[in-house]
Amino acid sequence: MSKRPTVGRWAPSPTGDLHLGNLRTALLAWLFARSDGGRLLWRFEDLDGAVRPQFYDSQLRDVAAIGLDWDGAPVRQSDRLDLYRDAIADLRRREFTYECFCTRREIAEAVAAPHGSSLEGAYPGTCLGLTRAERDQRRGDGRSPALRLRADLHGTGPIELTVVDRQLGNYTGTVDDFVIQRGDGTPAYNLAVVVDDAAQGITEVVRGDDLLPSTPRQVHLAGLLGLEPPSHAHVPLVLGPQGHRLAKRDGAVTLADRLALSETPLDVVNLLLASLRIEAVSSAADLPAVAEAFDPVALPREPWICTPPARPNLSGTAD
Ligand code: GLU
Repeated sequence: MSKRPTVGRWAPSPTGDLHLGNLRTALLAWLFARSDGGRLLWRFEDLDGAVRPQFYDSQLRDVAAIGLDWDGAPVRQSDRLDLYRDAIADLRRREFTYECFCTRREIAEAVAAPHGSSLEGAYPGTCLGLTRAERDQRRGDGRSPALRLRADLHGTGPIELTVVDRQLGNYTGTVDDFVIQRGDGTPAYNLAVVVDDAAQGITEVVRGDDLLPSTPRQVHLAGLLGLEPPSHAHVPLVLGPQGHRLAKRDGAVTLADRLALSETPLDVVNLLLASLRIEAVSSAADLPAVAEAFDPVALPREPWICTPPARPNLSGTAD
């Protein structure tokens, strides 16, 4: 069978300024796609309540400023709700869903209970057996249900699935009854990402390895929807000096912060390249040659610990 032409994607949430960790993942998604002569699509994952409109443009600007490009117009998940609703309706019709009235706290308590699920983080199936009367009662109490996937319609509980990651090899994870539609009616991330990757013809997902545990769920859901899942390459996150995920409080981590310290966008891209053990470029015009020589096997396997200089106090007020 001939290989599908590579189509990658970069899928940030417009909830804040991109930091060096985000920019580094964008660079990696770009390198993977372009090294293969492939396309790279931009998708805003904006179904989250924390979205702030100014960050659509600022994220596009920052990624372009460090010399990366993408194909076609960026899409927004908020414009694609019908696609997700169709997939949810399909799963509902086939009885692959059930309503869940649990609060986060109830789930945490059920999982911690001695007879709760032994699978870490897996939904213990509390609402699976609710009768219609019990559901009506909860609705009457003012609770609006989320919709969960009945992952193992014909079986007895959570299932295990092994996925092959290009960088990390085999990864086995649990597919539990995860949420596909939130209580407020918004399609959940795991549903939207599967529908979008298929609808956009994505063949290759490159993203931070914090999403590795979600991958078996996404591959399983793609199968239920009759969609071909993409390949996956999970890349290590960027960590701050204390070993936690890099954050704004760690110092000058956004492009604007670095420019305010008199660095140039080229300095920033060279910092990111150095973190990937790739030689510096003398201008962004050299990046296609970097993509041509790019070898994913040579990438560092460990997280990059970034120790940024202090953040310039641009507004003159403490933050
Ligand atoms: N929107 C997610 C993020 O900003 C990425 C999800 C994905 O790549 O599947 O981290």
